[in-house]
Amino acid sequence: MKNTIKKIAVLTSGGDAPGMNAAIRSVVRACAYHKIECVGVYRGYEGLMEGDFKQMNARSVKGIINKGGTILKSARSLEFKTKEGRQLAFENLQKEGIDGLVVIGGDGTFTGAMIFNQEFNFPVMGIPGTIDNDIFGTSHTLGFDTALNTVVDAIDKIRDTASSHNRLFFVEVMGRDVGHIALNVGIAGGAEEILIPEEDLGLDRLVESLNRSKKSGKSSSIVVVAEGDKIGKNIFELKDYVDENMEGYDVRVSVLGHMQRGGAPSCFDRVLASRMGVKAVESLIEGQTNYMVGLLNNKIELTPLDNAIKGKSKINLELLRVSDIMST
Ligand code: ATP
Repeated sequence: MKNTIKKIAVLTSGGDAPGMNAAIRSVVRACAYHKIECVGVYRGYEGLMEGDFKQMNARSVKGIINKGGTILKSARSLEFKTKEGRQLAFENLQKEGIDGLVVIGGDGTFTGAMIFNQEFNFPVMGIPGTIDNDIFGTSHTLGFDTALNTVVDAIDKIRDTASSHNRLFFVEVMGRDVGHIALNVGIAGGAEEILIPEEDLGLDRLVESLNRSKKSGKSSSIVVVAEGDKIGKNIFELKDYVDENMEGYDVRVSVLGHMQRGGAPSCFDRVLASRMGVKAVESLIEGQTNYMVGLLNNKIELTPLDNAIKGKSKINLELLRVSDIMST
């Protein structure tokens, strides 16, 4: 393995996701294994510009593989979007003798890393950490699997109430631009309808479909709604419309919100994070730069950051069909 890299920095940026800690641990331990130094950067690009660094060794990351959130904290920084901000970050990295950077985050984080690489020719590697799974070049982002399990658990609990009171529940889940979470948890939670940004069912067809389910003998229903769904202005408007146009149900809304981001990462996310961290460090050591590590056909592969950002992560059409059949 070629080894011109002597010191790698790692940061987490954008929204936190379960599995980020497991990825930090993996980056730090892979550096220790290859006998290169590792520095943790606090609060994402904010800390990079302020020089908020901490030397890490294999023991600094003990006891974190099972923890949600990120020990390095995360932040959103407007200043890093300016040339002056990025210049500051570059100077801090140089001062510390750091010659490689691993960023864990979503597409905004990758855009920042790519611009930074272009401006200063600084080696960067991305690890996709976001619960939305909206990144091209990986079948799973870190945190997605954990979020699915968290949401399914919540839906199961809501169903207990729905079926005890003949209620219709609209459950809002995360997914501003993509419906990956909604589609998967809708199927796993036995939802009658799943509303996602990629498909516009229309209010009338929704009511028609709910009436059909009712006639077929269902006394309670769950409708999973991605937050970016295009039917109605928001989930409360949906509720009002259905309330006015359907009889026999007590209609309720449950917005799951930030609880979807929290909690201990699933086994899948811990293993994925461990694999991605090792690949990110070893790729930098091999002289690769400006890539994201991702899971493709159960292998950890590199995708250029540019493609990861610009490519579309498409909804699984087979899952859409399965969900239609299941709501019969
Ligand atoms: P999530 O998917 O959870 O929102 P994200 O990584 O997409 O995660 P953003 O807030 O979009 O989250 O981006 C994180 C940070 O990346 C921003 O706060 C900013 O510092 C940096 N960043 C985003 N876009 C750019 C850009 N065009 N130029 C430079 N830096 C950027």
